[in-house]
Amino acid sequence: TERTLVLVKPDGVSRKLVGEVVSRIERKGLDLVALDLRTVDRELATQHYAEHDGKPFFEELISFITSGPVLAAVVEGPRAIAAWRQVAGGTDPVEKAAPGSIRGDLALETGSNLVHGSDAPASADREIKLWFPNL
Ligand code: ATP
Repeated sequence: TERTLVLVKPDGVSRKLVGEVVSRIERKGLDLVALDLRTVDRELATQHYAEHDGKPFFEELISFITSGPVLAAVVEGPRAIAAWRQVAGGTDPVEKAAPGSIRGDLALETGSNLVHGSDAPASADREIKLWFPNL
C-alpha cells in the first residue's frame, strides 16, 4: 500500500467541486487518511512547489495556490500515486487529460487544473510531511 498527497486547488473549492473530487477518490476504491480545508500561506506554497522555483509560471502558481482555501488530503491504497494521477488526468486538461478524468471532464486550463497529486514516492513522503506534520 502507498500514500499520496491530494489537493483540491482554490479553483476547485470555489467551483464547489470538493464533493465531486472526494467522491471520485472513494469510487476508485482509495482510502481517505486525512482531510483538511485550509488557506495556504506563502511559505508552505513555496516549499510545496520548490521544484518549480525559477520557472516562468512560478509566481502565478504561488499566487494561485494562496488565493483561497484548498482541500488537502492524504489518500491511501495499492499504487495510490499512479491511481490518483489516473483519476486526476494529465496536467494540461485539454491536451493530456483523458475524458473521464477530473481534469479531462471539468477543467480547461493548465494554470487552473483543479487538483494536485504527488508524482513519486519521494515527493509523496515530502509533501505529506509538509502538509500533515502530525500524521
Ligand atoms: P500537480 O503537481 O499540481 O499535480 P502536475 O504534477 O500535473 O501538477 P507539474 O508539472 O508538477 O504538474 O506542475 C505543477 C502545476 O503547475 C500544475 O498542476 C499547473 O497548475 C502548473 N503549471 C505547470 N506547467 C504550467 C504552465 N506551463 N503554465 C502554467 N501553469 C503551469
